[in-house]
Amino acid sequence: MRKMFVAGNWKMNTLAQSAVELASGLAQVVPARLANVDVAVCPPFPFLSAVGAAVAGSGVDLGAQNVWFEKPGAYTGEVAIEMLADVGCRWVILGHSERRAILGETDALISKKVNACLAKGLPVILCVGETLAERQANQTEAVLNTQMAGSLAGVEASAMAHVVIAYEPVWAIGTGVTATTEQAQSAHLHLRKWLESRYNPAVAAATRILYGGSVKAQNAASLLEQPDVDGALVGGASLKVDDFLPIIRAAETARKS
Ligand code: PEP
Repeated sequence: MRKMFVAGNWKMNTLAQSAVELASGLAQVVPARLANVDVAVCPPFPFLSAVGAAVAGSGVDLGAQNVWFEKPGAYTGEVAIEMLADVGCRWVILGHSERRAILGETDALISKKVNACLAKGLPVILCVGETLAERQANQTEAVLNTQMAGSLAGVEASAMAHVVIAYEPVWAIGTGVTATTEQAQSAHLHLRKWLESRYNPAVAAATRILYGGSVKAQNAASLLEQPDVDGALVGGASLKVDDFLPIIRAAETARKS
């Protein structure tokens, strides 16, 4: 059975004090690891250490939003995998659509990052998803296929235990528009079938596929009840404990096969 996973992507939000307050508030309401749900928060780089200290010993893990694939050295402005591990990160988000669209990240670059993280033992949340134009042109599955194949190039089946996929339709991110439960389930099932054909049935059955895109307290339960939705990657609603906690609770009670 796949354990549910709810991760908060704080994006470029919070300041030092508000980051620690948010993290401490979450640690208070999730004081110990939950039986049915893994929980993580991914703050901006400058606050990783302080947020890590605030959630230490609680049921909330620390993650980062990006990383560079080279070993520490002359890469001005970048952050190395070793640095994330050193401050206690257990996850890193890679391939987020904002990085693809705004920062120009390609599948080839994302694959270098994925492979480097897996080689160094840092688990990855790999984001994929289509734009509205691509969906309207019936290109959703083709886009997902391309992103999965490109971003996971060189990743062996044995390493997939350390990869979580996040299906994030770009048109649903930060827009308040959520995919319908049917749209989400259909994309997730497609991704699972892709994993089966690229890897094997065991990898397909074991890999967690999160949904991301305007998840909030009101829609979390119905999305998380879908058989191939194994959790949520949450942006806006992860910035307040009162908004994030109901999503965690919904994941706790969602039925899983
Ligand atoms: C995200 O940034 O990954 C995301 C899903 O954002 P939001 O929940 O705000 O749509």
